[in-house]
Parts: sequence; structure tokens; C-alpha cells
Amino acid sequence: MTNSHCNDRLAWQREGLPFNAFGAALRRRFGGRIQRVSIDAGFTCPNVDGAVARGGCNFCDNRSFSPSRRVRLKRVGEQLDGGITSVRRRYKQVAGFLAYFQPATNTYAPVDQLEEVFQMALRWHPDIVGLAIGTRPDCIPESVVDLTRKLAQDHYVSLELGMQTMHQPGLDWMNRAHNHEHLVNAIDRCRGQGFECCVHIILGIPGETHAMMMQTADEVARLGFDAIKLHNLYAVQGTPLGEEVASGKIQLMQQDTYVATVVDFLQRIPPTTIVERISGDAPPKYLIGPQWCLEKSTLKLQIETEFKRRGTRQGSHYRPPTLLPENRPRPADNTPASIRSQIDVRGRLPVLKMESRIESGSGG
Ligand code: SF4
Repeated sequence: MTNSHCNDRLAWQREGLPFNAFGAALRRRFGGRIQRVSIDAGFTCPNVDGAVARGGCNFCDNRSFSPSRRVRLKRVGEQLDGGITSVRRRYKQVAGFLAYFQPATNTYAPVDQLEEVFQMALRWHPDIVGLAIGTRPDCIPESVVDLTRKLAQDHYVSLELGMQTMHQPGLDWMNRAHNHEHLVNAIDRCRGQGFECCVHIILGIPGETHAMMMQTADEVARLGFDAIKLHNLYAVQGTPLGEEVASGKIQLMQQDTYVATVVDFLQRIPPTTIVERISGDAPPKYLIGPQWCLEKSTLKLQIETEFKRRGTRQGSHYRPPTLLPENRPRPADNTPASIRSQIDVRGRLPVLKMESRIESGSGG
């Protein structure tokens, strides 16, 4: 396996792809298939524990999050082993793995604990080539930027920020409990620090017009993210959104509208931005709707076909901003004090107790 970083971010165009697909980008970088292994390290979320709000986002099944959840080092290792084994069963040739810290807010713990759990994941198996860390844009104080930069000196590291939309009514409807300024502040402090910055977007938020979604696309382009994940709004059981969809109060986007909107969106995104996802889904037994998002390969084919029909590709309609993102000054950190007090701590652990060490017996 090679670990050389391929700087040619336009290679996808020569390969005839309609967009800068993540799998192909990883193959170029690492010389083979790279798979993510999802990890639940036991973090909670400031939108659940009351630091900024309670209840969480309306689409998020956060019933298992609680302030008493612990960073579970032993469980992290077990999840990595299990995930690697199951991926190897499915694919004959895998060049490496990314430990993907996915549920909850994975930078919301004392920074010492964050470092311990991330370093442990990187050391756990020789084929782990990097980390993906999902978090909220208001949970990235300078201490987290410093830690992420340090981890990225020797490994691929992607910090995934939930933006969802740039529009406040949509953020309020989802009960995100942060505003767009937190996102702008976070990316302006994280950009160009040696790790990848990936943005999560949701298409089909009730009340958002096509024009509003295109404004979000232009804002993503302006902010200079390295990568993007696009999701259709989908509903799972046990969430406020799930109840509203099941009762018919909320209609979700139709499949053909979603396909056209994804293509419209990606046409406005810089060609250098890596596209990590083009749809979202959930295990069938939890999914309330839409059912069409379960057919991922059909959806992908429809999106590719729509690009072909139009004779366009990612970035066709992108217009670089007059002031490039890298030339904008780094702002002061605007992490809320209630969140900062839980993260910017070294030497004592006020939020989460670290579970007993890996070598010890049973853990909670
Ligand atoms: S911020 Fe993320 S983890 Fe927290 S409630 Fe929302 S979706 Fe769930």
C-alpha cells in the first residue's frame, strides 16, 4: 500500500467521472480500496445534555446519548476489530481502513480524552490509515483544531462538520441549536491546517425552496471545504421527524426531485471538492421514509445519468469568489462558553469518565 498524497484533485475529470467521487480519490491517494469502520466511542452531544439545548436534532435518534456515557476505549478496539473483519469478508482486496467516529459529537469531551481515544484508534491496527471525526461546528475550540492538526501530521484525518443548511429557519426547524455563524467561524479556523474539512448538507428541509438550497450550495463553495456529504432528509423511528413523517404531517422529497437537486447542487461546487456521499439512508428496519433512498446504486446511476443528459459535471456552474477563502483572515474562536468548559480541560475529566484501560476486564 502506498501512502503518498495525490495532489491532483482534478484527476476525476480525466477519468471521465461526473463528480469527484470519494472512493476514487482514496484509491488514488492510498493505492487501493479504503473502507470506513464506524465507531461509537460513547460521546454525548451538547444539543442533548443541555449545554446548548436538550432533545437534539429532530432527525437524530439520540436516545442512547446521556451525560453518563463513557469514552469506551476497550469497546473502540473491539468495534475496529469487528468492522475490519466484516469488511474483509465482503471485499477481497482492501488496502486500508478509516476509523470513523460517527454517532454523537465526537469532539465533545476533555481534549486529553479525545487525544487518547483518537491515538488509540490510529495505533490499533496496522491497516488503519486515518480518522474521520463527525462533530458540530460549535464544538471546535482552538484546542480541538490543535489536536486535529497534530494527528494529521502522520495520518489522513477528516473533520466532518454538520452545516445542513445556511438558513436559520431550517436550522431552527431541525433544533440544531447553533447558527450559521458557528459554521463559518469553524471552517475559517480549520481551513488549511493540514486536515481535511468535510461539510454535511441535508436537502429537502421543509420550507426550503430550490433557490434556498442553491444559496447553500454557493455558500459551501465560497467557504472552501475540502469535501462534502450530501444527504436527502430521511426519517427514522424514535425521532420527532419520524413521528411527523409517519403521521403524514411532513412530506419528504420525491426521488426525481432529489436527483435533479443533487446535480444542480454539485454543478455549483468547486471541482476540487471531494464528494463523499450523494445520499443518506438508514437500516431498513428503522427507516420510515423515503424508501427510495435504500436503492443507493440506482440513485447513483440516476445522478450520473442526469449529469450525462445535461452534458455537465461537478463545478460546471462554479464561479470562484472574488476573495478566496484562504485569503480571508482567521477569526477569533466563537465556541460557546458552555461547550468550551467541557472541552478545554487538561488534567481533569469533568464530563466523561474514561473507562478502565484496554487490558482490564469487563467494561461498561
Ligand atoms: S448535533 Fe449531531 S449528535 Fe447532536 S443531536 Fe444533532 S445530529 Fe445528533
